[in-house]
Amino acid sequence: MAWRSETEGRAAGSAFAARSSCKIPAQLVWQGRIARLLDAQGVTLILGEVGQIDHMPGGPAQVHLPDGWQFEATRAADLDSLTAPRPGAGLSRLEAFHPRLVAFISACLIAAFVVWRWGLDLIVAIAMAVTPEPPVRAMDSSNMVLINRLMADESQIPADRQAQVQAIFEGLIAEAPAAPWGEYRLLFRDMPEVGPNAFAMPAGTILVTDQLLQDFPDDDVIAGVLGHELAHVHGRHVLRQLYRAGSSYLLITLIVGDPGPFLQDMLREGNALMSLSYSRDQEGQADRLGIATAEAAGYDGAALATFFETLQQGEGDGGPEWFSTHPGMEDRVRQIREVAGPRD
Ligand SMILES: [Zn+2]
Repeated sequence: MAWRSETEGRAAGSAFAARSSCKIPAQLVWQGRIARLLDAQGVTLILGEVGQIDHMPGGPAQVHLPDGWQFEATRAADLDSLTAPRPGAGLSRLEAFHPRLVAFISACLIAAFVVWRWGLDLIVAIAMAVTPEPPVRAMDSSNMVLINRLMADESQIPADRQAQVQAIFEGLIAEAPAAPWGEYRLLFRDMPEVGPNAFAMPAGTILVTDQLLQDFPDDDVIAGVLGHELAHVHGRHVLRQLYRAGSSYLLITLIVGDPGPFLQDMLREGNALMSLSYSRDQEGQADRLGIATAEAAGYDGAALATFFETLQQGEGDGGPEWFSTHPGMEDRVRQIREVAGPRD
């Protein structure tokens, strides 16, 4: 029997004292499970919690009250709001009191089912498809705020060299496929602890370290590395890896509907973007597209292989950093040389 919690009502009938068969004209008044039994003069006979209710369909309805009192309604239907075992009454109470909990548990169950049924890759793909542009753009800028605060200083690269590198970058952009969520832009930062490296952010910001420009003055290498990072942006690799890294949160936010807070949380964890690791597939794609872009802009695509070889030989002091964020070096140099066309 499910009690309705907030019902109130009134019924006329007869009261019986404990072990007495003497009928007393009475009224029962109740709110929730608490009932007051009144005699004909309105004097309270008993006040307390309603006990068992005996109600044979078509027959009389008797309510058991404290101290052995019973109440029999003249019309059993008057007790409906007190007795009716309503299916779903328990659920409606739960929804009324804990709508967020119910929604959250539902979302978790749906998420678990979706992962079990379709797997992470598809979930990430769906998330990517429904991610609007503004939060992605905001990721670039909020991530730069973090990087500036934690690990980057203003670039020491002379302005004229920065202008040359910017010109390389613009030549590459002219040949590269578009950034899916924003525009490409290049930033220079001095990052001694990071070493020679470049980072792509999801909306199209490319960060290049002074250490890369100092250790690798060759324009072909710079074009190869920047082309590679542009390809990570175009391929949406950055956001995809972020979503994979936070997949359990992602599923719930995806079902609840707004990816903005999720993205902010990911960034708040620290330098999520800078510690992301790409998959080998993504690295292969970025190598191929990056080389094609660099070659279309007039640079030597094979220079990217030179760059990797140099890092591997330990001549650049940030080699390990590069490899941790861009893994899959086995055979990579060989593949780059295969992809890169002969210089004309
Ligand atoms: Zn890469």
